[in-house]
Amino acid sequence: MNCRDCSYQPQILQVLAEHGDDYEAYESEEKLTWCTGCGNFGIQNALKRALTLEGFGPTDVLQCFDIGCNGNGSDKIHGYTLHGLHGRVLPIAAGAALANTKMKVVASAGDGATFSEGVNHLVHAIRNDYPLLFIIHNNENYGLTTGQPSATTREGFVMNAAPEGVTTGPLNPMELILSLKPTFAARTFSGMVDHMTEIFRAGLKHRGLAIVEVMQICTTYNPATSHEWFWQRIRTTDEIKRYDKTDLWQARRVAEDLEEHISLGILYQDETRPNFHERQQRDGAKTGLVEEVRHRKISKLMKAFE
Ligand code: SF4
Repeated sequence: MNCRDCSYQPQILQVLAEHGDDYEAYESEEKLTWCTGCGNFGIQNALKRALTLEGFGPTDVLQCFDIGCNGNGSDKIHGYTLHGLHGRVLPIAAGAALANTKMKVVASAGDGATFSEGVNHLVHAIRNDYPLLFIIHNNENYGLTTGQPSATTREGFVMNAAPEGVTTGPLNPMELILSLKPTFAARTFSGMVDHMTEIFRAGLKHRGLAIVEVMQICTTYNPATSHEWFWQRIRTTDEIKRYDKTDLWQARRVAEDLEEHISLGILYQDETRPNFHERQQRDGAKTGLVEEVRHRKISKLMKAFE
């Protein structure tokens, strides 16, 4: 394992050893069905670690999943999980987070759902700064549909659905995200479980929308960006001189490069801006929206449609 990931280990392993039962509580009896070497294994592991270390048990969290290979893990982790429509994980997760502030909400989606079917929801989730952690599994293709190009597939790459090579250049997710002025934008790599754990923990503690792009390995359909390819290019923000995560322009500069130096870490965080709830002036409310739901008899109304 690369020493850049090992540096996070001692503290994580020590705390996990003290919370072994809490971690085990996330174990599901369903068998994982991802391909051998898939980055989803590491991502799920890091998420379970992060939730455990932050004191969230399976019944303290709602995990919302989009359609895709990562969504197929929705029944492979114990707890409250919801597997919704393609590209629509953010409105579902945001609705839940706004209705029940006692529940931590985590949303997961792939690059296809996030930057094509659901790109409109991404834009407005960032504008509204909903209080949840959003994990983007960017494996640069639609893996579940056996290797279709997505908005992040690199130009020229030969795919099952593009046998002559992809003819359109890729979208840089972090450039788009940072252009919308988020309050938390981070990037990590599925081969660095300890780094992912720390980034997810920071995202879980953030008051607004914490967006984490995971550069994910897809061993079956994206051999172009393999583990080795990433290891030769990644660097963490700790390795960048005078990196200031509160400087949006510096974040935008380092996020541009997806070829030579791929920067990982919390690229940008603004802890001063009020989140969605705080702007709604509901801070003094003694009840959450979910507790204010009233049961009304609608039988008379229904009769009108008979
Ligand atoms: Fe993972 Fe790719 Fe296999 Fe999907 S197709 S399970 S992303 S390796």
